[in-house]
Amino acid sequence: MPIPPRPRTFICPDCHWQRTTIPASDALQVNIDWFFRCPVCNSELQTRPATRAEIMRARLTQFFCHPRD
Ligand SMILES: [Zn+2]
Repeated sequence: MPIPPRPRTFICPDCHWQRTTIPASDALQVNIDWFFRCPVCNSELQTRPATRAEIMRARLTQFFCHPRD
């Protein structure tokens, strides 16, 4: 049984770019579901499990915007 990935928050320690992702499946897409480097300054990102507030905000964003845009 594949385990669905948990929502995660990615944070750039240098420019404070931040993104919360809620992967739709365990087939993670780099730069959509998973980030290795900051898209702004190319620094290595820190990652941690998303908080409830971040998950809620990310869901709202996906609902009102184009989810995979
Ligand atoms: Zn950055």
